[in-house]
Amino acid sequence: MAKVRLEDIKRRFNNVTAIEDITFEIPDGEFWVLVGPSGCGKSTILRTIAGLETATSGKLFIGEQLVNNVPARQRDVAMVFQNYALYPHMTVAQNIAFGLQMRKVDQRIIQERVVNVARSLSLEHLLDRKPKQLSGGQQQRVALGRAIAREPQVFLLDEPLSNLDAQLRDDTRAELKQLHHQLGITTIYVTHDQVEAMTLADKIVVLNRGRIQQIGDPQTIYAHP
Ligand code: ADP
Ligand code: ADP
Repeated sequence: MAKVRLEDIKRRFNNVTAIEDITFEIPDGEFWVLVGPSGCGKSTILRTIAGLETATSGKLFIGEQLVNNVPARQRDVAMVFQNYALYPHMTVAQNIAFGLQMRKVDQRIIQERVVNVARSLSLEHLLDRKPKQLSGGQQQRVALGRAIAREPQVFLLDEPLSNLDAQLRDDTRAELKQLHHQLGITTIYVTHDQVEAMTLADKIVVLNRGRIQQIGDPQTIYAHP
């Protein structure tokens, strides 16, 4: 677990400024939610933290480390996308274990992590299945499991529930909240959904046209005057 600090981060694509003046510090273990209209820069912020984009200017810290020039692979960050992108030819267990295998973690520890993660996400009975033998909600739980199995310092989620139907979305949201409670990983979560933002967030960052419009707790952001 680690704090995440953005200092005056800007990202330009040719002539388009995707984000600018982005400054905030997420304390260790907090759950922050980024909201705002399509195209306001939410994904660019997440991808920059993950190392999938490079900031044009500004400083990004994970813990005490300046990570602007640290490649994605070497950042202790896990990201989950809207389209879960599991490896179709691998079983659930192999998918969950994948990031650990890549890092040459000891087999005994991998096995233990796979079991623990599967238990936290109610996937124990599905470990030997392939993704196509799972429902959408189960697939997304495997994607969450694959991300947390690495025990990252920072957990990034880009609209992870938006492909699920209403009931599954409620269930998975509750599970995510529980998981965060249990693991306390510093989390940044992008959503369009006010209920998700309200129920999950310690703090909400409202973005508009690539800039921060407001940062506050859910009660303040969604207060009705
Ligand atoms: P959001 O996630 O809030 O929908 P994005 O971060 O995806 O917003 O995009 C922010 C802005 O940056 C948009 O204007 C988008 O078109 C632009 N943008 C994002 N990625 C690229 C890219 N690879 N090349 C050019 N423009 C991009
Ligand atoms: P591989 O053949 O690549 O080792 P496996 O499917 O046997 O792939 O397992 C991938 C990882 O998940 C391994 O580390 C294994 O120990 C663990 N694993 C596989 N099946 C189970 C299971 N039913 N319960 C717990 N861990 C499992």
